[in-house]
Amino acid sequence: MVNIDKINLLSLNRAGLQAFFVANGEKAFRARQLMQWVHQRGVTDFSEMTDMSRTLRDFLQQHTCIEFPNVIDTQISADGTRKWLIQVDGVENAIESVLIPEKSRNTLCISSQVGCTLNCSFCSTAKQGFNRNLTTAEIIAQLHLAHHGLLEEGYKQGVTNVVMMGMGEPLLNFDAVIAAVDMMCDDYAYALSKRRVTISTAGVVPAIEKLVNETDVALAVSLHAPDNQLRNQLLPINRKYPLEQLLKACHSYVDGYKSRKITFEYVMLKDINDSLIHARQLVKLIGNIPCKLNLIPFNPYPNAIYKCSDAETIDQFREYMGSRGIVTVTRRARGDDIDAACGQLAGQFRDRSRRRQKYQLGLMEVGGLTHAH
Ligand code: SAH
Repeated sequence: MVNIDKINLLSLNRAGLQAFFVANGEKAFRARQLMQWVHQRGVTDFSEMTDMSRTLRDFLQQHTCIEFPNVIDTQISADGTRKWLIQVDGVENAIESVLIPEKSRNTLCISSQVGCTLNCSFCSTAKQGFNRNLTTAEIIAQLHLAHHGLLEEGYKQGVTNVVMMGMGEPLLNFDAVIAAVDMMCDDYAYALSKRRVTISTAGVVPAIEKLVNETDVALAVSLHAPDNQLRNQLLPINRKYPLEQLLKACHSYVDGYKSRKITFEYVMLKDINDSLIHARQLVKLIGNIPCKLNLIPFNPYPNAIYKCSDAETIDQFREYMGSRGIVTVTRRARGDDIDAACGQLAGQFRDRSRRRQKYQLGLMEVGGLTHAH
């Protein structure tokens, strides 16, 4: 339970912590010390923060807290992907984060909202409606839990990459997301390089324009359709910010910045957006933007109205885009046996018996893999 009388220090980035310490008669550098304890060393007990005076530790103990949301379930997929079900508010509200371990990197997929307002027709998060924005503390807690969880288990490296591709639309929770991203990249916290933190958006145009000056993290844009008519059907937000505006905002994100590139996401929906006619239109649309294209095979869920394109169709699409000079990769579905793949995050608490059963199965199949790094 969050203690409402005390400030949760997880909610403050470096600037926020400095302001807090200075306002309480302390030196600004205390912020760096505290961040190192909490985020780098994973220490959350003030009494262990030995480079701070006793008086300061007592003060922090009395007036602040470092509080995490509860982890209510963890599942491990046969392919090593892990999913945390994290409780926010009452039992009916949960969010999910997913860790995708690979040889040289551990990518964490983080949620930014409980549910989502955007109602994309192919996404299962949309089906649960919207509850609220996550706080900065709840966003950074997802990274803390995964990162220190891995280190405690003996992994040599914790989380190396973060993608804001879990539940919710990060750019509709702008301030909290930016403060959390700040901490992810802060040398005194997780020190992730800006290239290794990706914000994914369905196309909130004014927020993309704001992002241009605000941060330098990687931007992924969920395109999914090459024309307005189809995109209106798949992503209703397109009615508000049509493709012309979205592409203009994408240009403003990369133009004048040599190292910036947009990652366009394109979910492959059978007989909906996957023909070579669509591919041709797509080349016209994005061909002059520094970008790469990720094709995401549609991940099914109960009562979904779409099917995934055939493997052959996806290959043809990818080859066509490649032949027109657009670097195109097909994403491998990870963790789909535990409903952890893109668009499968529902965050709900229901169905727990099935989750349990799958978790046990996953553990059996994974065997000793948890210490493989
Ligand atoms: N709101 C952000 C983050 C959402 S999830 C955004 O729209 O980018 C990350 C990606 O998964 C998005 O590209 C989203 O469109 C995609 N996605 C959603 N449901 C999916 C599904 N069932 N199968 C495959 N990808 C899906």
